[in-house]
Amino acid sequence: MTGTPVGPLLSSRVVSRNPSDPRDVVVDVASTGVWRTVEAADHARDAYRSWYAAGAAARSAALTAAAHSVEQAAAELADLAVREVGKPLTEARAEVSRTVSIPRCYAQLPYEATGSVHEPASGAGLLLTRRRPRGVAGLITPWNFPYALPVWKAAPALAAGNTVVLKPAPEATACALRLTELLQQALPKGVFTLVPGGAPEGNALASAVDAVSFTGSAATGNAVVRTATAHGIPVQAERGGLNAALVLPDADPARAAAHIATAIAGYAGQKCTATSRVIAVGAALGPLRDALADALRAIPAADPAQPTTLCGPLISEQARRKVLEAARDVPLLAGGKPVEGPGWYAGPTLAEQVPSGHPLLHEEIFGPLAVLLHATDLDQAVRMANAVPCGLVTSVHTGDLDATLHGLNSLDTGMIRLNAPSTGVDFPLPFDGTKSSSHGPREQGRSALDFYTSTHTYSLHRAT
Ligand code: NAD
Repeated sequence: MTGTPVGPLLSSRVVSRNPSDPRDVVVDVASTGVWRTVEAADHARDAYRSWYAAGAAARSAALTAAAHSVEQAAAELADLAVREVGKPLTEARAEVSRTVSIPRCYAQLPYEATGSVHEPASGAGLLLTRRRPRGVAGLITPWNFPYALPVWKAAPALAAGNTVVLKPAPEATACALRLTELLQQALPKGVFTLVPGGAPEGNALASAVDAVSFTGSAATGNAVVRTATAHGIPVQAERGGLNAALVLPDADPARAAAHIATAIAGYAGQKCTATSRVIAVGAALGPLRDALADALRAIPAADPAQPTTLCGPLISEQARRKVLEAARDVPLLAGGKPVEGPGWYAGPTLAEQVPSGHPLLHEEIFGPLAVLLHATDLDQAVRMANAVPCGLVTSVHTGDLDATLHGLNSLDTGMIRLNAPSTGVDFPLPFDGTKSSSHGPREQGRSALDFYTSTHTYSLHRAT
């Protein structure tokens, strides 16, 4: 696939490769370049006034049409995600299906109330508040959800009346190009623009728009927050996790292990919501240790194009090396060996007895591996779960109501999932973490509007 939607200037190339077979170049296009990125933001600002003025019905209909356009190409999009980012086919189909549902859901938002009416402290006037779009929303996205993530940022932004410029991760450029073609078929000219590229384009976008929504790694997120803040631009940043699964003694070990194995190995652990620390409480340790090791050994790292595959390749050789190095020199219950073949594969891995201070306990490795830990009681398990700088999601495995309530009150993560894998997104609801996982207002749900709009206050008084 080739194409230069915005056009190069002093450009470098964006090249993405198939992680199952890196000899396969999926896309090779010119990067947008810094000045063309700024220009794209200016053009999007030109388009903003008429998009906002078009009214609620037009924006709602365009979002519905966008969903239809993506739906028509569902099979092709899923195959492309398998090829470009190594997403297992079944999961790629589920992501495309979510990418269709999200704009349909947000198509209702343009009709919602945008403010409130208040009585003045004195006199016969009227006080009003009203939320208005910010203008141009700059979206900077990672490679691991190449369709759903740009669209869950874009849909509320567009519904509120903003126009959008998307800077996707280089590794997912072909997916972004195709997604953009489909969305542009349904949206007026200039409302959705793509700027392929890397850090220079991301950095330029973060200083040229009216709001920046970023998802990616902690280090990049910090840089984007600094850039946007220096330019006085509102910014939200969703970053990584070091997510824990707590297993209580009453939990069925096989069922808990099946959920947790999915959360460790699914998509080779390349999700911000993947489980990387498993904390067995009290007597849960023995049965869980055996069940989880068995469950992970039964998940091979395999061809993502097969519908039965759960764990595909890592996104790059560097990512694979990081996984194998993190698992070196620690006792392993499963995995830890490279997988033969041209692709960047590493099998699901479970470590135990990891010394404190080891990177596995403090760094997001972003691969199919986790550490098994033991806590004597629930209080200790909660302290261990909370003892990391980020706080995205925790899964808790128990039928004990008291333990559940204790977890809901004391676990320091933005999301808690009971008797389910830590992975999984309920897109109509807010999605966010605590501590270093997130910065700024929550994504998704109605709270997304808090970010993509600003509140204006009107005081109306009699002319005579
Ligand atoms: P990344 O941080 O390397 O890149 C993210 C995006 O930022 C890319 O588009 C990249 O080109 C761009 N970028 C890089 N340097 C930049 C700069 N200086 N200024 C502006 N933009 C810049 O992340 P990745 O490897 O693509 O994705 C994996 C990471 O994303 C993981 O850490 C994962 O946890 C995180 N993630 C978080 C969530 C969430 O919702 N919390 C969801 C998915 C992924």
